[in-house]
Amino acid sequence: EREEPNYFGAGPALLPTNVLQQAAKDLINFNGLGLGVGEISHRSKDGAGVVEQTSANLKKLLNIPDTHEVFFLQGGGTTGFSSIATNLTAAHAKKTGKIGKAGYVVTGTWSKKASEEAARLGVETEIVLDSKKVDGRFGTIPSVDKWSIPKDVSELSYLYYCDNETVNGVEFPEFPFEKFPGVEIVADMSSNFLSKKVDVSKYGLIFGGAQKNVGIAGISIYIIKKSLLDLPTVDELKKLGLPITPIAFDYPTVVKNNSAYNTIPTFTVHVVNLVLKNLIEKGGLEKQEVLNKVKAEILYNTLDKYPSVFKLPVDENVRSKMNVVFTIKDGSLDEEFLKGAADNKLTGLKGHRSVGGMRASIYNAVTLESVSLLVKYLDEFANAHK
Ligand code: PMP
Repeated sequence: EREEPNYFGAGPALLPTNVLQQAAKDLINFNGLGLGVGEISHRSKDGAGVVEQTSANLKKLLNIPDTHEVFFLQGGGTTGFSSIATNLTAAHAKKTGKIGKAGYVVTGTWSKKASEEAARLGVETEIVLDSKKVDGRFGTIPSVDKWSIPKDVSELSYLYYCDNETVNGVEFPEFPFEKFPGVEIVADMSSNFLSKKVDVSKYGLIFGGAQKNVGIAGISIYIIKKSLLDLPTVDELKKLGLPITPIAFDYPTVVKNNSAYNTIPTFTVHVVNLVLKNLIEKGGLEKQEVLNKVKAEILYNTLDKYPSVFKLPVDENVRSKMNVVFTIKDGSLDEEFLKGAADNKLTGLKGHRSVGGMRASIYNAVTLESVSLLVKYLDEFANAHK
């Protein structure tokens, strides 16, 4: 039981109360077994069933084609930064016999970190775009003609980008990768996974940590093109001088073992399944996408109304529908803004520690009612300070 929260935290983030109520019941007694979902073997019928059903529901919701497979890894987005670099570099080497470069499109904190991790692991990276270098700040996505696209794109093992930059509030409004024919596109969708429809067939890999739109922390979700699961042997990798992936994060090993090569956190996956079922019952992604658009629109419209009070650092065409980033022009009012919000039971609005300011994360579980209450507070605050 709880009062419906108006919580705008960026992650871990709000989940629907009915989902959590079911999860709480299942933590104690799952499927009438007299045991909780966290107590049963991941290899038992019910335990393995959790993974199977979660994959099936994900395939259904996102209309995932047969060319792609779903799997789960322990850990979050950062686990992906490392494991993508090693697995996909290996896949490219197997396919072409050559060691490629890993292409990165950097539009904010998380894509930057991902590129740095690849380099740290000894993978040669090619920064195809760094929007901060082009425009002097994160908050834009420069048009493709301003990117540094290699002459021969086939030398790229993959092209990585972050579909929604959680800290900077920048989201790709479209899929601008036509100039990379044949290159496997990798998307970090940690903070906008299942917020909209996605054409999975365009991607080599989509991944994300669960703890924003899809569940609680501890698990990450992968949708991979099956052809990328063909990797060189360890001996071949050693000969090529390529990094070897730790076994628990070796994609073919994980897929072969239905995401349970080692003990998978069944409860955490089960929460994802409950979120998926809830989404399906509520009309799927089409409906959710429309609702998310409305929520973002009313919030941005309100902020835009008061240019003397609020500042929006992100270009209008690339504003995130999940993480609405803004600052109070008079920074000395930050505390007052947050306190006033808390008095109105609006919480989780403080911006990421690296950039300051405010951030309202309006993930799937944040209702239109919550956003309306925030809008009302923004109006009041702005009118008192303009
Ligand atoms: N990618 C994105 C887009 C994120 O928002 C985050 C975390 N907020 C990460 C990656 C890193 O995730 P984790 O903390 O689960 O490693």
